[in-house]
Amino acid sequence: MLYQRSSQLFVEASKVIPGGVNSPVRAFKAVGGTPIFVKEAKGAYLFDEDGNKYIDYINSWGPMILGHAHEAVVNAVIERAKLGTSFGTPTALETKIAELAVAMVPNIDKIRFVNSGTEACMSAIRLARGYTKRDKIIKFSGCYHGHSDSFLIAAGSGLSTFGIPNSPGVTEGTAKDTLLANYNDIENVKALFEANKDEIAAVIIEPVAGNMGCIPPKADFLNQLRSLCSQNGTLLIFDEVMTGFRLAKGGAQELFGIQADIICFGKVIGGGLPVGAFAGRDEIMNYLSPLGPVYQAGTLSGNPLAMAAGLQMLTELNNDPELFKRLDEKTAYLEKGMHEVLSNNGVAFTINRVGSMISVHFDKDPVYDFNTAKNGDNDTFKKFFHELLKKGIYIAPSAYETWFITDALSYEDLDYTIQCVDEVSQNL
Ligand code: PMP
Repeated sequence: MLYQRSSQLFVEASKVIPGGVNSPVRAFKAVGGTPIFVKEAKGAYLFDEDGNKYIDYINSWGPMILGHAHEAVVNAVIERAKLGTSFGTPTALETKIAELAVAMVPNIDKIRFVNSGTEACMSAIRLARGYTKRDKIIKFSGCYHGHSDSFLIAAGSGLSTFGIPNSPGVTEGTAKDTLLANYNDIENVKALFEANKDEIAAVIIEPVAGNMGCIPPKADFLNQLRSLCSQNGTLLIFDEVMTGFRLAKGGAQELFGIQADIICFGKVIGGGLPVGAFAGRDEIMNYLSPLGPVYQAGTLSGNPLAMAAGLQMLTELNNDPELFKRLDEKTAYLEKGMHEVLSNNGVAFTINRVGSMISVHFDKDPVYDFNTAKNGDNDTFKKFFHELLKKGIYIAPSAYETWFITDALSYEDLDYTIQCVDEVSQNL
């Protein structure tokens, strides 16, 4: 494969955009080399500026669950654009997507749309703080909830990729209100509750972590978290930016049968346009401005193009009763195939998977939290990444990211991928 044009574009981009990218992990810094510049995409495939074709296992970091350039979603955007691209007034479209989301997701009465997952999580904790009249929050090491100040403390994703424990620019005052717990460690959470009695507004968690690779919650961990929050008058926030509309119609709440108090969305809910949302029961959501005192706003929130894409996406998911089963089967097939070839080739690895979220860690021991995720062999990952890329398989350029499986993948694509993993792992 040639990356000549991408390399040249990266040089040009780096002169006018910090690091040449608008979001850090895209820069390939963790794996070395220059990022591929994508020209277009269709279904399960990406095509770069050099004319290379890739099977895509990132899928815009989650949104493209039905594949790239999905015809109905693209058409919805085109038709809507002809009517004007932004009004800053309410539209009927916003109510339609809100009604559908409320019908698909358990336990929510109202939903507010924003422009990114970051905004959704940031607004959710403000709401939780306003509602409970408390300041502190608990987050889990290795979980990523976007780049707003309160969350940039032992966050996963790009911060782990670049080894940044705390971002400069986050004040001590802000950092002191964010308490850290270990994922899957309920005793740790209990100790924090005891040490901070009546002070904790919310616990925010990725119900399946996807920002330190994919890490499933241990049996009963989320249930125990639910009970602890209820006992302490603390709100449980599920950050379903990755898991929402991906693990099931109703996301992780439905999959695990657990009800959170506020649920954050992003990625799939926007069908590939910039959308986030947060939702909950009436009593909590009515605390938001203009009904209540907690302020939150956005010039482009509920933007008609974004809402048209999101509505079409949710409609497609809602009308396809077999979709989530199909995604689970495809991902299980990939898991089984990779497991076989990696084992046969004597590689030390762990594969974690929940539904269509999956990741390979180069460590033979179980990976269940941020510390165990860090044990993975990064040099092996780098080689794995680049050798797969050369064969036209595009996985996330960091060991701290989950892969997202799209329904556009065929079993031939999966077989080819397993064959490539076999070839690559013979020389890891
Ligand atoms: N929460 C989670 C769980 C995420 O994975 C992400 C982004 N990957 C975010 C929040 C932030 O979303 P955005 O990048 O849209 O701001």
